[in-house]
Amino acid sequence: MNLQGVRSLLFDLDGTLLGLDIDAFVPVYFEALARRFDGILPAGRLVEAILASTWAMVADRDLSRSNEEVFWSDFLPRVGLERERLDPIFTAFYRDVFPSLGHLARPVPEARRVLEHALSRGYRLVLATNPLFPRVAIVERMRWGGIHDIPFALVTAYEDMHACKPQPEYYREILQLLGASPEECLMVGNDVQEDLAASLVGIRTFLVEGPFLRDKGHPRYEPDLRGTLLDLASLL
Ligand SMILES: [Mg+2]
Repeated sequence: MNLQGVRSLLFDLDGTLLGLDIDAFVPVYFEALARRFDGILPAGRLVEAILASTWAMVADRDLSRSNEEVFWSDFLPRVGLERERLDPIFTAFYRDVFPSLGHLARPVPEARRVLEHALSRGYRLVLATNPLFPRVAIVERMRWGGIHDIPFALVTAYEDMHACKPQPEYYREILQLLGASPEECLMVGNDVQEDLAASLVGIRTFLVEGPFLRDKGHPRYEPDLRGTLLDLASLL
């Protein structure tokens, strides 16, 4: 298969453009976050509530509410606190603590090359990272990957998006925001279930092979293309 007709490239971030093992990262992230809630919420309760509210965000397919709205409306009753009390803690965490977690990630050397190459060929770029995080946490991870200054046309964050991977609504919303048809897009990612779900709306897919490939086995998807980022670059 070639990339005939493709004008927009949708890239996943974690495990695709950034060397980050999300399963190893999340426990460290939670531990660091829980420390900021010392004396306000027990760590166990905080983590349990975040996981449950994140799940609520992923499951919610109602496009009238942003992911942020879904998260908070689920989260606040669980912890019994006001958002006004919690917001400054989260803000300070993302400003002061989150950047220090960068040692858990490493840049993917080919990432910048493939993005710059794609731009030089006239492709429009989207950072199609699962919008479970506030924008500030996405920009910080882009910085870890050395790609924060790449002119993406769209970076999907929880403030703006109304669905999450692997829901087809997430990919449909990207198409709508781009004003693009599925045939014009290629989704590039390392996660079979989350990233190849783009095929549900007719977007072609490129599975990035390597140490970060994730496949839960179900549902099964076959990518249109697979290989390394350098293989992708040579197709562009
Ligand atoms: Mg990924």
